[in-house]
Amino acid sequence: MYEDQFRGQVAIVTGAAGGIGEAVVSALCRAGASVAALDVDGDRLSALFGAHDDVPGTVTQFTADVRSAVEVEDTVAAVEERLGPVAFLVNCAGVLRAATAVELTERDWDDTLAVNARGVFLMSTAVARRMTPRRRGSIVTVASNAAGVPRVRMSAYAASKAAATAYTKTLGLELASSGIRCNVVAPGSTDTAMLRGLWGGGDGTSVSVAGVPTEYRVGIPLGRLTTVADVTNAVMFLLSDQAANVTMHDFYVDGGAALG
Ligand code: NAD
Repeated sequence: MYEDQFRGQVAIVTGAAGGIGEAVVSALCRAGASVAALDVDGDRLSALFGAHDDVPGTVTQFTADVRSAVEVEDTVAAVEERLGPVAFLVNCAGVLRAATAVELTERDWDDTLAVNARGVFLMSTAVARRMTPRRRGSIVTVASNAAGVPRVRMSAYAASKAAATAYTKTLGLELASSGIRCNVVAPGSTDTAMLRGLWGGGDGTSVSVAGVPTEYRVGIPLGRLTTVADVTNAVMFLLSDQAANVTMHDFYVDGGAALG
């Protein structure tokens, strides 16, 4: 579908050991990219990608914390040294600390903003500074439809994703004249470890349909959860030349749940 446009190109995917990140790494790999798989969870990276470690054209693992300016800068420099100039960045690392707004702790607020907003800022600027003189590159931030639609127990998460979205779109405006595109993919509830972590509440009030609590289906016009493949397809499109005239876009992949 994308012919040879990803072949030999260097891509960084953060949160690569997670459900969506792993799927994006695999799709880029299948398209022939040389993928830097970055995650704070080095054990899980090895478990997922160990067999591919350091094979050019496939996956190289980088264990780093996107909250740390030093680790981000060192890692992006190491990626360029080992793999070559970065052409693509996918910001996928994220955390969700679910609590009602009044019960949310200061620490959960800070952690959420640190990974989901500061992490996107640090990664994107470290990569964009290198892309700008080369006048090419494409950045996609995986945010959330929670940035646009209030959802219970997600105040910090929503705030962090709204920040990441606004930041990415502003970056897109500032980098447009350098030929660098910056877009957002906003998934709805996607069947990964992050979402399943919310299902274990066990208060006995949740009614399950085919293993999925009904509240996760209610209000989704297309009637199903988002899959990692749905999200990956959107990410690949926005990275690709097929989206050559698309920037600052906030692309909802949520079965219509945000109603617009
Ligand atoms: P996941 O929990 O499976 O994966 C998240 C990954 O991020 C994990 O591998 C984790 O180790 C990594 N990570 C966390 N903190 C990090 C840090 N400080 N530095 C580097 N890596 C770190 O979640 P997922 O469902 O695959 O989510 C991927 C992205 O999609 C996240 O940004 C999430 O907010 C977003 N999203 C998910 C859903 C959903 O319902 N699953 C919906 C909308 C948006």
